[in-house]
Amino acid sequence: MNKIHLILFLILAITFSNCKGDKNNNSSSTTVTPKKNKRSIPKFDAQNAYDLVAKQLDFGARVPGTEAHVKCKDWYVEQFKSLGTIVIEQDFKGTVYTGETFDCTNVIAQINPDKKERIVLAAHWDSRPFCDSDPDPKNHSKPVLAADDGASGPAVMLEIAKQIQKNGIDIGVDFVLFDLEDYGKETGENASREEVLANMETWAIGSKYWAQNLHRPDYKPIFGILLDMVGAKNAVFPYEGFSLQVAPTVTKKIWQLAKNMGKGNYFIQKEGGSITDDHVNVIKYANIHMLDIINMPNNDNHGFGDYHHTIKDNMDIIDKRTLGAVGQVLLAVLYRQSNGEFL
Ligand SMILES: [Zn+2]
Repeated sequence: MNKIHLILFLILAITFSNCKGDKNNNSSSTTVTPKKNKRSIPKFDAQNAYDLVAKQLDFGARVPGTEAHVKCKDWYVEQFKSLGTIVIEQDFKGTVYTGETFDCTNVIAQINPDKKERIVLAAHWDSRPFCDSDPDPKNHSKPVLAADDGASGPAVMLEIAKQIQKNGIDIGVDFVLFDLEDYGKETGENASREEVLANMETWAIGSKYWAQNLHRPDYKPIFGILLDMVGAKNAVFPYEGFSLQVAPTVTKKIWQLAKNMGKGNYFIQKEGGSITDDHVNVIKYANIHMLDIINMPNNDNHGFGDYHHTIKDNMDIIDKRTLGAVGQVLLAVLYRQSNGEFL
């Protein structure tokens, strides 16, 4: 993903104004009454999530066009099926900016497919083919192992699916693993506006395909949550710009809930940057209000962690406390919604 220029933010803001308002969601949901038989919120197993990150890295870098990529995709399918979800493999041909075309797959796993009230969780699963932000130019041609920028989101989702299988839930939950997010072209400091716009289109190809080819024609979840880099040590998740724009109420509620749960050191209640990430395509092409939980700890390396798109994005930077904080907050959101206590 890439940090976006302010001017583009304003252009997209106009596009987004056509979206169904965040307020509409709230007004329809005020009719929801708390349910009598409430389910308690399961405990997220952070160690399991950590092990699931490591398991993905065991395949190697999951770069489109490699054997590791195919094997890891098959593993997700097998894992999600074993957790009782209904899995769809959405295959597509993805052409990247170099002109190469790859066999790609978005993996969609559904819980309670017949429930109308749904929440979608998403993350990209592919690894970037080059460590082009690495300080050592020798590493620029190496693939990113992508512990945080690839494996962390799917790991959190698999552990959530496990807890839901054990405990049951009264809403529909969908997990979407996007392929081909991270094969985009970096934009230089002095790029023209045209170049910035053109390069933006080279990222997040899988989410664009899914948003334009939804796995169900009538698909309309209440909201979506994108997870991107949710497992690093000392991660901080400020409000992401587009999230605040299209889903201010849900975003602020989640961050407040996190604070109430003692996770306010991760979920910082202040504005961060606006990121060209998968959720932008989901908002733009599917009109689904998806917010982004993304680690933006500082202002160097495009505002992301110093490991971002470098060889340092391996198990050494993963902290199960971060995975645990994100996973526990998400379980709280899902079960509160299920109990009629969130939106
Ligand atoms: Zn990336």
